Amino acid sequence: MVSLFADLVTPNGISYQQPLGLFINNQFVASKSGETFATIDPATEREIARVHSAGAGDVEDAVRAARQAFEEVWSEVSSQERGRILCKLADLIEENADVLAAIESWDNAIREDIPEVVDTLRYYAGWVDKRYGQEARVTDLVMRRQVIPTKGTQLNYTVPEPLGVCGQIIPWNYPIVMASWKLAPALAAGNTVVLKVSEQTPLSALFLASLIASAGFPPGVVNIINGYGAVAGSALASHHDVDKIAFTGSTQTGKEIMKQAANNLKSVTLETGGKSPLIIFNDADLDAAVAAAYPGIMANAGQNCTANSRLLVQRDAYDRFLKLFIAKAVADANVGDPFAEDTFQGPQITQTQFDRILSYVQSGKQEGAQLVHGGKAHKNLNGKGFFLEPTIFTGVTPRMRIYREEIFGPFVVVLPFESESEAVQMANDTEFGLAAAVFTRDITRAHRITRKLKAGTVWINDSQTVDPRIPFGGFKQSGIGQEQGEAGIKAYTNYKTVVVNLSANTHSPASPGPKL
Ligand code: NAD
Repeated sequence: MVSLFADLVTPNGISYQQPLGLFINNQFVASKSGETFATIDPATEREIARVHSAGAGDVEDAVRAARQAFEEVWSEVSSQERGRILCKLADLIEENADVLAAIESWDNAIREDIPEVVDTLRYYAGWVDKRYGQEARVTDLVMRRQVIPTKGTQLNYTVPEPLGVCGQIIPWNYPIVMASWKLAPALAAGNTVVLKVSEQTPLSALFLASLIASAGFPPGVVNIINGYGAVAGSALASHHDVDKIAFTGSTQTGKEIMKQAANNLKSVTLETGGKSPLIIFNDADLDAAVAAAYPGIMANAGQNCTANSRLLVQRDAYDRFLKLFIAKAVADANVGDPFAEDTFQGPQITQTQFDRILSYVQSGKQEGAQLVHGGKAHKNLNGKGFFLEPTIFTGVTPRMRIYREEIFGPFVVVLPFESESEAVQMANDTEFGLAAAVFTRDITRAHRITRKLKAGTVWINDSQTVDPRIPFGGFKQSGIGQEQGEAGIKAYTNYKTVVVNLSANTHSPASPGPKL
C-alpha cells in the first residue's frame, strides 16, 4: 500500500513531509480501494509522488464527517472563534510559506501565490461578525416604506445562517489560491466543507490540510480529498447530504456539475472559462498597454481563466502595438525552469494541455490566420517538460476557432477594429463573459464602454488584478454567482426570516392589528 506521507525534497532543496492520503476528520487516511495516482512535475515530466484516489465510498465518509461536525460542533462555535481559527490558519500558512511556494512551483509551476492565500483567509476572518440580518418593526407608514413592508403588528427579522455541508471542486491552475477562495468564505460563514482538489495538482492543498488541526479546526470541519473528477467530483456534486456545490473549472464540467447538483437542488456557484478581450484605443498609452497585456495572457503560461486572450486594437495604433507586443515576447518570454529566478513562463500543466494548445496552432493556420510569433514547443536545456513558445496570431476573424474557444495557453490573437461600437461588438461576440480590459486615456469613453461590456470584471488601464475584497464572477457561460468580497460570504449564507406576532391577542396571528 502507498504510505500516507512521503519525505520529499523540492527542487530548490527544501525537505518536508508531504501528506499523500485523504484528509477526513483531521486525519490522513488511505482510499478504501487502495487506488492511487501519480502527480507529475510538468517541468521534468518526472513523478513527484503518488497520492490516494478517493472513490464514492471515501466521499461518503468525508461528507458524513462534515455533516456530523456541522450539526454537533461547528454550529456551536462562536463567530469570533471561527475568525480566530481562520487567522491562525493564515499565520501557519505564512510560517510555512517557503515550503508551500516550493510545492506549488513544483507541482504546478506557480510561485508567489502564498500572500494572496493569507490575505484571503484574514479578509474572511474579519467578516465572521460583520454580517447582519434585517430588522423590521412595523409601526407606521414611514417605517413601512423604509423596511420590510409587512402588514400588521409584527417584528420581522432575518438571521444569517450557514448552508451546512459545502462541496467544493477546484481546478489545477492556482490550486492553493483556489483552495483559499473556497475555504475561507465557507468556513467564515459557519459551514463545514469537503474540498476536492484537482487530480493534476493535489500536493499543496494536502500540505495545507496538515495545518488544519494545528490551526484549531475541530475534526470534520475541513475535509480535503484527491480524486478524479468523474469519480470523486461527481460523487460530491450529486451527494444528497451536500447543501451547496461551489465549482471552479471548465464551462463543460460546470454544466455537468449543475445537472448533478439538481438532484437535491443544491445551491450552486460556478466559476468557469473565459475568452477575455483587452481593447486598446488609439489614444492609449501603448507601453502601459503592452506591459499589462503581455503578462495578462502569458503569465502562468496562459493558464489563467481571466487571461486577455483576445487583443482588439484600434486601427491607427494596431501596427505600433503589435510591434511592441512581439518585441516584448522576444525580449522577455524567459520560458523555463519555474525555480529559476529570471523565469517568467513555466510549463503547461500536462502533456494533454501541451498537445491541445499545439493543435490550436494547426487550427489557426488551417483557417487562414497568420502565426507571427512562437507556435512551437520551447526547447529547454534537457529537452523535457511541457514548455511552449509564447504564440501570437494575426489575420484572425471572429469565426475562427482560435478566436472563439478557450485555449488556456500562452496563445493570443490580435485583431484591429475601427470604431468604439465595433470594439464592443467584437468583445461581446463570445459565449463567455468572465473579464474584459480597456486601455484609453479618455475616462468618459472608458466608463461608457464598460457599461456595454458583458463581463463580470472590467479593468480600465489594467488587467488581471484581483483582490479578496473585490467580488469576482462570470457573466454568460463564465459562471453563476460571485466569489470574493461580501458577495463571497453571502454565497455561503442562508438568510432565515423570523416573523414574531406582537399582537396583544396572540390568538390572532399576523392580522392587521392595533398599531404599536
Ligand atoms: P476541469 O473542468 O477539467 O476540472 C475542474 C475540476 O472539476 C477538477 O477538480 C476535476 O477533477 C473536476 N471534475 C471534472 N469532471 C468532473 C465531473 N464530471 N464531475 C465533478 N467534477 C469534475 O477544469 P481544469 O482543466 O482543471 O481547469 C481549467 C478550467 O478552469 C479552465 O476552463 C479555466 O477557465 C477554468 N477556471 C476558471 C476560473 C474562474 O474563476 N472562472 C478560475 C480558474 C480556472
